[in-house]
Amino acid sequence: MPNQTVAVLGLGAMGSAITARLRDTGHATVVWNRTAAKAAPHAEAGSTSAATVAEALAAADTVLVVLFDHASVREHLDPLAAELKGRTVVNLTTTTPDQARSTAAWAAEHGLTYVDGAIMATPDMIGTPVSRLLYSGDRAAYDAAREVLEALGAADYEGEDAGLASLKDMALLTAMYQLFSGFLQAAAMMRTVGVPAADTAGEVRGWLGALLPHLDHFGAEIDRGGFDPARGQDVEFTRAAIGSLITAARGQGVSAGLLEPLMHHLDELAATGRGGADWISVIDRLPME
Ligand code: NDP
Repeated sequence: MPNQTVAVLGLGAMGSAITARLRDTGHATVVWNRTAAKAAPHAEAGSTSAATVAEALAAADTVLVVLFDHASVREHLDPLAAELKGRTVVNLTTTTPDQARSTAAWAAEHGLTYVDGAIMATPDMIGTPVSRLLYSGDRAAYDAAREVLEALGAADYEGEDAGLASLKDMALLTAMYQLFSGFLQAAAMMRTVGVPAADTAGEVRGWLGALLPHLDHFGAEIDRGGFDPARGQDVEFTRAAIGSLITAARGQGVSAGLLEPLMHHLDELAATGRGGADWISVIDRLPME
């Protein structure tokens, strides 16, 4: 639907960036924020400021929810199921997959048009070519809001299960934090001999930049399921390598706490007769019983 009026609930850093982008792309916007003062600059810039969530919804075709967390979303949406009817609700608040499914089930129970979203961008990226948002749940809801959503960044529909966008978000953030914490460990080690973290950042970026294409090989091997050590590094080799990293860190007076969980999995694989398998078979130890 072109020229939609969009209600934005939540004017934190992200909700504000989204509202500004919608204005820039010619959308009428109605904004609400718990702390009303944050709506003032948006009203000055051309948005309509609503005193209550219900007032914001009344004028809107599409409702973008950009609150802090799942609890704040449900606190404000649950009492307004009747008012939300006939509007497309897109929840961009970061939630877990099960929280997304729970809100989708609540919406379905009340006959609401609801889609869950996940923002793979920081506020300054919104509306730029590097902005990407993921969506999942009701396909018709996604299609109804699509013109609005595409103003925010690349829009990827992940599937009917409302938890899928959040799941991918959580998986990508997990990979990001593990990668970044690897840098912190490296910087902590190099700092012991006076090397600034800024220098280590450049070194790590160069090293990992050269190695990241290996992920495609890891992915293919995991999908093949063979864990053939001839095509990679076996568990025993990697155990020795991680063991050296742990010893080196401790030798510099740095904790090896970030590395120990991986060592634990490698030890368990070796102890159960899989020392000759490709080390990436660690993935088989991750599903919980
Ligand atoms: P901020 O901390 O800047 O803003 C939080 C917003 O939530 C404010 O509008 C705040 O209102 C509101 N809020 C918090 N608790 C409640 C409540 N109980 N009832 C009503 N409103 C409440 O966060 P962001 O704007 O950065 O993030 C918003 C969402 O976007 C989060 O889920 C975040 O994970 C997600 N996101 C953010 C990214 C980022 O880089 N910033 C990246 C990707 C996703 P008030 O002003 O009154 O405090």
